[in-house]
Amino acid sequence: VRYCKRLPKIELHAHPNGSIRDSTLLELAQEHDQRGTISSYPNVREIILKEDRSLQECFKLFDVIHVLTTDHSFITRITKEVIEDFAAENVVYLELRTTPKSNVLTGMTKRSYVEAVLAGITKANLVLCENHQLHAHGIQVRLLLSIDRRETTDQAIETVKLALEMKSHGVVGIDLSGNPVTGNWKTFLPALTYARQCGLPVTLHCGEVPVHNPDEVEEMLAFHPDRLGHACVLQESQWERLHNLRIPVEVCFTSNLRTGCVKSICDHHFAWLYKTHYPLVICTDDRGVFSTNLSSEYAIAATSFDLSEHDLFELAKNATRFIFAEEPLKRHLDRIFAGVEPNYR
Ligand code: IMP
Repeated sequence: VRYCKRLPKIELHAHPNGSIRDSTLLELAQEHDQRGTISSYPNVREIILKEDRSLQECFKLFDVIHVLTTDHSFITRITKEVIEDFAAENVVYLELRTTPKSNVLTGMTKRSYVEAVLAGITKANLVLCENHQLHAHGIQVRLLLSIDRRETTDQAIETVKLALEMKSHGVVGIDLSGNPVTGNWKTFLPALTYARQCGLPVTLHCGEVPVHNPDEVEEMLAFHPDRLGHACVLQESQWERLHNLRIPVEVCFTSNLRTGCVKSICDHHFAWLYKTHYPLVICTDDRGVFSTNLSSEYAIAATSFDLSEHDLFELAKNATRFIFAEEPLKRHLDRIFAGVEPNYR
């Protein structure tokens, strides 16, 4: 784990609201309790501290989290803390993906939500600059805006338009996520097509639950997104198709195991993807919800699939190929990896 922590890493699949520290969540819950904005603190506490959640229990927790994080200041705080936590384990490039939310009660709009996230990125940068010795390479952060599967076509298009307006502030792409048994993929296709036409890269959560909608994976592959999240449950012919398409896959071991998307680590498709030199990147998904971090996910790869330190270095280095950020930043990251390579051979 020490080697994995030291290794410079790229994180491409992380949801801020799933990556909140438990201590912060409990603090926010207490604050809401004092304000009378949640009805049962003990219940909320129990949901936050529960371990081994099923996929549906995770979405129950997300509902609680979203009640706790309705203030702009809370959004800014959690974004800053999440970035600090990734920086502390030598993540040099972080792509956060978050769902812009509106809330009439707190005066939040999708735009003001994203602005609060961007304020968190700025704050984290300031703190990390002050601690330069601790974070020699620094951390570059970019944002993807997520479309939640509960949303309508119009809401999804609003998110894409917002992403386009916020491009100069570090928004680099679009994600489709949310409870995989909710909504129909076709609802989001107009927004995703529009994003693509406007030059915004797209990643899709794909194949998380067995045969929810058998055509969906097929249609997602036909859309040919720039990356795929999870891609756990595919039919035989779809694996073959994926293999030919070579769409980079974001692999999240702990998330997949905890939510039952994959039965055991031996059954994880990483083994096959890795053996066939398929483009992939190791990620955390929700480091708070699943009590993990990126170093641990690399350590899982090493111990479960017998990877050497050099293999891990190559995995981390190759991930720069799949980032959605601009070319000069890719070159900057390549230089970081080239500079440290002799120490990791
Ligand atoms: P947020 O977008 O920052 O609020 O992060 C939490 C949200 O990310 C959840 O409400 C889901 O929509 C999405 N999410 C997090 N983990 C998963 C997952 O494993 N599958 C699908 N969606 C997810």
